[in-house]
Amino acid sequence: MSTSQLPPPSNFIRTIISEDLENGRREQVITRFPPEPNGYLHIGHAKSFSLNFGLAEDFSGQCHLRFDDTNPVKEEDEYVEAIKEDVSWLGFDWGDHLYFASDYFDQLYLWAVQLIKAGKAYVDSQTVEQMRETRGTLTQAGVDSPFRNRTIKENLELFEKMKNGDFPDGTHILRAKIDMSSPNMNLRDPAMYRILHAHHHRTGDKWCIYPMYDFAHGQGDSIEGVTYSICTLEFEDHRPLYEWFIKELGIFAPQQIEFARLNLSYTVMSKRKLLQLVNDKHVSGWDDPRMPTLVGMRRRGYPPEAIRMFCERIGVGKGASWIDLSVLEECVREQLNKSSLRRQAVLNPLKVTISNYPADKVEELDAPNHPQQPELGTRKLPFSHELYIDRDDFMEEPPKKFFRLGPGREVRLRNGYIIKCDEVIKDENGEVIELKCSADLDTLGKNPVGRKVKGIIHWVSASQAKKVGVRLYDRLFKEENPDKAANYLDALNPESVKVSTALVEPSLLNAEPGTTFQFERVGYFTVDSKDSQPGKPVFNRTVTLRDTWAKLK
Ligand code: ATP
Ligand code: MG
Repeated sequence: MSTSQLPPPSNFIRTIISEDLENGRREQVITRFPPEPNGYLHIGHAKSFSLNFGLAEDFSGQCHLRFDDTNPVKEEDEYVEAIKEDVSWLGFDWGDHLYFASDYFDQLYLWAVQLIKAGKAYVDSQTVEQMRETRGTLTQAGVDSPFRNRTIKENLELFEKMKNGDFPDGTHILRAKIDMSSPNMNLRDPAMYRILHAHHHRTGDKWCIYPMYDFAHGQGDSIEGVTYSICTLEFEDHRPLYEWFIKELGIFAPQQIEFARLNLSYTVMSKRKLLQLVNDKHVSGWDDPRMPTLVGMRRRGYPPEAIRMFCERIGVGKGASWIDLSVLEECVREQLNKSSLRRQAVLNPLKVTISNYPADKVEELDAPNHPQQPELGTRKLPFSHELYIDRDDFMEEPPKKFFRLGPGREVRLRNGYIIKCDEVIKDENGEVIELKCSADLDTLGKNPVGRKVKGIIHWVSASQAKKVGVRLYDRLFKEENPDKAANYLDALNPESVKVSTALVEPSLLNAEPGTTFQFERVGYFTVDSKDSQPGKPVFNRTVTLRDTWAKLK
């Protein structure tokens, strides 16, 4: 698998629509996003609905949100609400155009009867196994059902009885009478209605027969006057079936256009697998910050603008597209670099004592909230004679290019003074436990005279710093394509989260859940919206400052 070349930002669907409008083939643009409410939305869905809502915006049209809720067994209101929230979160608005396939059940039933009356549909009473066996294969034609030539009257009676609940599940189905030898398997007398004695999240117990997705989807689009039914490539083979239903019913014909679904490296997107990750507790829930779901990304601190930027950047094409996860992470960094306030936090503390600074003095230094955006103001950063710096910023025997702290070396404290390491203190095992340093007190906001100090390190004041929980998230899977493993669960990254603590500037203790900060030189961190308590924030690492995986490849 290789990362594909990114296609140009415009896309072939936009081109088709522009031409249609210019040539007068269409007068308006109506699109829709049609999720099944049987799971939470993931980044692949974001690609789909950004495209649909985006096209409606581009052409001053409208985009509907329609729940294709034809399967009562797997669908729930919880998902409906979550999906609405996710679409809104990305900034899209369906206005008055919220629909449900289940709103069309009465109409679909009438259309089924219409097709029976036209001799285009019949009730089949074979078993599921018999139907599977007689369906044929890609190279072999199917065999007609012995029930295929039932009279219209008999079909009408049986279908009515199916509807009235006279039969148990699986005993009869209604099939379209098309062609059992069609090279397109979808046209070999596909099922239209099945018996399901199941409670539906919206229609309750009104129905015990339910339309198949393929008998509902295209007609749903037609009823809503959708001009462009945009869907992923696996529906290309279903298009002739949708067109057949539309033609036989004599109703408005939308134009179906297929595009390639998004595949993202180090990620799985099948709903079944995501559900399994949740149910088997490999993650803490659908909104676990490692999940590729929009609820997960929101909790992790990905800004909606970054996801929209990503969807725009990856483009839309016909060829199978694998996008590297780093493309998404780069969008997140770009956005957060602009929008997040800077703070100082030390994850792996090493004590530093400033020997020439009074032990009882605390100074409040002014530190900008954002170095490139002075309008975002400043905050007070306490400084005292005892500090913590990050262990990684000190080396006893530093190599040439190491510009941070070492014995006898100088470094600038971010937003503070230049300090020099005078003495290294170790414990009985030889581990460095403290550095004695001296500060050049004439270097606040200015360079020292006569020498250059290259390195800048972050720090916190020991007595004012607050300890908070941090969760260092990494990719959920360690393999580029988890589906290549014998079992995708084997590809899980055992180090996808490390729970730890950090010492942070005092103001962070009251940070609002959901706010993201750049911990300078460390990474972007977002206050967890679930596990934080007032005065006790937990910080999720949203993304590292740089792509740490790139060098591993
Ligand atoms: P399933 O049908 O197996 O439950 P699904 O992911 O197709 O899963 P839907 O709710 O049917 O779920 O998806 C809604 C829309 O999102 C569909 O039009 C579908 O084509 C699109 N979609 C789903 N996954 C992706 C993806 N990875 N990339 C782009 N579009 C996607
Ligand atoms: Mg689907």
